[in-house]
Amino acid sequence: MPENTKLSNYLFYMSYLNRKLEGFFENQSPYIFCKKGCSKCCQNGEYPFSKAEFDYLMVGFLQLPIDIQEKIKAKVKKIKKEKNGKEGFVYECPFLFNNQCSVYDFRGIICRSFGLMSINDKGASKIPFCAFENLNYSNVVDFDTKIVSSEKYKKLGNVNEPLAFNTSYSFLTSENIEKNFHIEFGDKKPLIDWF
Ligand code: SF4
Ligand code: SF4
Repeated sequence: MPENTKLSNYLFYMSYLNRKLEGFFENQSPYIFCKKGCSKCCQNGEYPFSKAEFDYLMVGFLQLPIDIQEKIKAKVKKIKKEKNGKEGFVYECPFLFNNQCSVYDFRGIICRSFGLMSINDKGASKIPFCAFENLNYSNVVDFDTKIVSSEKYKKLGNVNEPLAFNTSYSFLTSENIEKNFHIEFGDKKPLIDWF
C-alpha cells in the first residue's frame, strides 16, 4: 500500500476514534475528572504503541522545535538506560513536558482512550487506576471492593449509569479494525522500545 494511502487511512481511523471516544467521555461525564494539567496517566506506564502509531507520533515529533526534540532524545536515552531490558518497566513518557503532552494531536491510541472504564479481553470491566487517586470514577467506586458501587451511583441522582466500553487497546487495534479501516498496525511494543 502506498505510504500516503496508509497515512490517510490511519488518519480516517483517528478521526472516527476521536468522535467515538468523545461520545463515550460525554456520556460518562459525571465520572470524568480529567483536566488540563492532570497527567498522572502519562507519568507511570509502558504505553503500548504499534508501528503505525509510532510512525504518526514521529510526524508530530519532527514538527517540534529542535530544542524540545533534543530534550526528548535525552529523556529517551535516560529511560532506555534505566530500563536496561527489564520487562514491565514503567516510566514517565518522554513526550510529557510541564504536565502536558508535546505531541497531543499525534498521540497514541492508548493516550486517547485512557480514563474511561473499558472491557478487557475476558469481558470484565477495567477501572482506570486514577479512580483510586480520587479522579475518574472515584465518585462511584467502592475503594474496598474495587468495583463500582450501585449505592454510590444511586446517591448521585439521575445521571447516566457508569459503563465500561469496548475501548481496550487490544480491541481498538484488533484485526477487525485493520480490516474495516484498511490499516496495518504492525508490531506492538512499549513506546520506549521503538527507539
Ligand atoms: S485519565 Fe485520570 S490521570 Fe489521566 S488525565 Fe484523566 S483524570 Fe488525570
Ligand atoms: S504521548 Fe502524550 S498523551 Fe501519550 S503518554 Fe506520552 S505524554 Fe501522555
